[in-house]
Amino acid sequence: MDNRLIFEKSDEGRKSNYVKKPAIELKEPGQILPANLLREALPLPSLGELEVVRHYTNLSKLNFSLDTNFYPLGSCTMKYNPKINEELSSLEGFLNIHPFQSEACLSGALELIYNLEALLSEITGMKRFSFQASSGAQGELTGMLMIRKYHKVMKNKKRKVIVPDSSHGTNPATSSMCGYETVVVESNPDGLIDLDKLSKVVDGETAAIMLTNPNTLGLFEENILEVADIIHKNGGLLYYDGANFNALLGITTPRLMGFDVIHLNLHKTFSTPHGCGGPGAGAVGVVDRLTDFLPAPVIDKKKDKFYFNYKIKHSIGKVRAFYGNFSVLVRAYVYLLRLGREGLLRVSQNAVLNANYIREKLKNDYNVASNKPSMHEVVFSCTRQKEKGVPALDIAKRLIDYGMHPPTMYFPLIVKEALMVEPTETESRKTLDYFIDCMLKINREIEQNAQTLHDAPHTTPVKRVDEVRAARNPDLRWRFSAK
Ligand SMILES: *Cc1c(COP(=O)(O)O)cnc(C)c1O
Repeated sequence: MDNRLIFEKSDEGRKSNYVKKPAIELKEPGQILPANLLREALPLPSLGELEVVRHYTNLSKLNFSLDTNFYPLGSCTMKYNPKINEELSSLEGFLNIHPFQSEACLSGALELIYNLEALLSEITGMKRFSFQASSGAQGELTGMLMIRKYHKVMKNKKRKVIVPDSSHGTNPATSSMCGYETVVVESNPDGLIDLDKLSKVVDGETAAIMLTNPNTLGLFEENILEVADIIHKNGGLLYYDGANFNALLGITTPRLMGFDVIHLNLHKTFSTPHGCGGPGAGAVGVVDRLTDFLPAPVIDKKKDKFYFNYKIKHSIGKVRAFYGNFSVLVRAYVYLLRLGREGLLRVSQNAVLNANYIREKLKNDYNVASNKPSMHEVVFSCTRQKEKGVPALDIAKRLIDYGMHPPTMYFPLIVKEALMVEPTETESRKTLDYFIDCMLKINREIEQNAQTLHDAPHTTPVKRVDEVRAARNPDLRWRFSAK
């Protein structure tokens, strides 16, 4: 395959005659715009239509995706996204909807959001939801802004937010963005929150704790009720990072555990294709005492009519233009209705079963981060492999050669040489067995030919990239200097 950029393939004088001559007479930009507003002509490549088609078709074949291969990326819930979601969210009436349409004209969409809210309320035990946030991280910000405003209105003097040392990076980032001091509480050797250490850092100035349960080690926080007690007694609130909700559907709710605010990543648990920055939806749910702080508007119903309710006493305002990523809401709604109560329960049972199946089959060859049973994901600690000179990174890269996406690496930060595997409920036993076989084979390769692992991947057009440099010094101007 020719791996050159399209700019490098440019062939002076080649062009496509795809666009028809317009019916109206076109003027040159210089005839209608003042000279100081004119830009230099862009150095666009010259290519024929067939060359363009081949270029992009070949590029598309390099994509790795959930629709092509196994994708056990922990804390990302790369489950199969049923195609019926796409079909229904592409219905004419949904697809061509516009936020400036009148309420009456939007009533079907409002009803859908209203019903989706009812379903998520049942699943989480929360009273109300907002669907404005476009991502999990923005959902967190929305939730924490509500907590901040709540304390302000209640005249509570609050200064700090607690996060466990296993927390997702977005949690401390959110707390800092809200102006709080972030206080980290260490986990105990089992990977759970240490209650003694927690009691020592919580006091009257604690605004909230940000947690997820199961935590980022894939473990259920057994002492969650005690945690809730400690925080509530000090006038703080509990924030639930529900980005990955795959372990709890139909089994228990954050409300029962004592949480006050939650965000759900509809694009993870509730099946919208995600990655590469979008699209997403962070649904933010709250208990009774926080409903007055929700972003405006929420959808309400009066005499069978659905309407935007902007009358929210202490609303934090809007966190985004209009009403959220509507098509993601449609997909989540279709997903929920199709599965129903029974189906959702089975989702979680199978997600947990699949993670534990992998854990049991690999636990003799790879260390598991904790002795406690796993929930929907399992974290391995490749310290034995590292001692033999093969870090988790090499193992992850080698999996690419076997046709799989690498698991999440080096997260959570408290686990040495971490590989975090989340198989999800939608994978067959055959696929899980293939992954297990490959992991066992890689472990044998360490003895037989460690260099194969250091040099992996061997099958991709690009081998190891310098990830730090790619992020810190992205070269975005190259094409404009191209001849
Ligand atoms: C994915 C994830 C987030 C962030 O969600 P985005 O939609 O990527 O912003 C937050 N917390 C946890 C635990 C996650 O897995």
